[in-house]
Amino acid sequence: MIIKPKVRGFVCITAHPEGCAAHVREQIATVKSQGSLSTGPKKVLIIGASTGYGLSSRIVSAFGCGAATLGVFFERPSDGGKPASAGWYNTAALQSEARAAGLWAKSVNGDAFSDSVKAEVIDIIKKELGKVDQVIYSLASPRRTDPVTGEVYKSTLKPIGRSFTGKTLDTDRKLVTEVTLESATDEEIHGTVKVMGGEDWELWMEALHSAGVLAEGVTSVAYDYIGPEVTWPIYKDGTIGRAKQHINASAKRIDALLKLYRGQASMSVNKAVVTQASSAIPVVPLYISILFKVMKEKGLHEGCIEQMYRLYKTQLTAPYLTLDDQGRIRIDDWEMRPDVQAAVAAIWPQVNTENLDTLTDFASYTPEFLKLFGFGLAGVNYDAEVDPVVQL
Ligand code: NAD
Repeated sequence: MIIKPKVRGFVCITAHPEGCAAHVREQIATVKSQGSLSTGPKKVLIIGASTGYGLSSRIVSAFGCGAATLGVFFERPSDGGKPASAGWYNTAALQSEARAAGLWAKSVNGDAFSDSVKAEVIDIIKKELGKVDQVIYSLASPRRTDPVTGEVYKSTLKPIGRSFTGKTLDTDRKLVTEVTLESATDEEIHGTVKVMGGEDWELWMEALHSAGVLAEGVTSVAYDYIGPEVTWPIYKDGTIGRAKQHINASAKRIDALLKLYRGQASMSVNKAVVTQASSAIPVVPLYISILFKVMKEKGLHEGCIEQMYRLYKTQLTAPYLTLDDQGRIRIDDWEMRPDVQAAVAAIWPQVNTENLDTLTDFASYTPEFLKLFGFGLAGVNYDAEVDPVVQL
């Protein structure tokens, strides 16, 4: 079939197998061009490994550190003539590139929140890896079924305590508009904490510990975001921020557990990048479009792969993590530099639909977004027939 992008709001419902493979190869080439990280982990479990920060973490650990990688994700294979999801194609490409490079790479496609997927992963580690020396937790999910009660919780993106009205970007129609979000109910706050908080990360680490599959010196990292004040009502101070507070507390408990192995756990506060998860958050795509312009002008621009390479190079290959006063890795340091934030803040009140192209880097937002689904990659013939069925 011939596969073209079909964008519906903030998602693209199609993905291109060859384009996704080219995108993965591009990220591998970026890592290789930046040099090997030989002191890095050697057996890495990545939960949320198929797209965004988790995929880039997997690529850096495999192609930078030479690690065996076990990836967990929830993706859709091709069915009934429809293309698979991007994360499916990304993983197929990653596994074939890893194996061609002599690197062990396996994946489990299923619900990471379930006990059965945890058991399957532990079984694979026991049989094939023995132990893991790093666990990356990079899930972004709209819902979670509690493994004990069976109750389904939903994650929402809402302010807390009062409603919020602010500028946002309709990326599909290229319009700067206003969005109003009503204050979250207690149930919505609780649901978001259940899905995006740290309960599941703790369950993973306890299960891995009980099964005896954590190696001496093991590290575990989950990802956080802080960002600028314009996003705080719906991010840091909103429902998702409440979940992040919870996962930060989980990081401290996991860190205490990993002391048994002379290991460490921490949150890493990462920069804002274009991913499937971030494009769904109101306000954030407009902020990213401005941020990219400012950071490119200052020679500081990083996408997912550059940000994860720097995380590994400066932190995850070092003997100890260097943390801020709240115990977090701050790889968002360039984004949060006062000169960067001042430049963004100066643009924010002026930006509108008419001047979007001059005041922001929206020109690269849409291509970056489409690349997540394998569209717009050099060397891929998008007019040619392609088989949507790809085996993992
Ligand atoms: P993403 O949407 O690109 O990736 C999410 C991953 O989670 C995918 O691999 C998906 O398959 C997996 N997943 C979702 N539900 C699952 C389930 N039930 N079982 C198994 N796998 C499941 O997201 P992302 O933007 O890379 O976000 C990852 C983390 O990074 C999140 O904690 C997010 O808050 C954080 N973060 C993101 C940004 C950003 O700008 N994107 C910035 C800082 C921090």
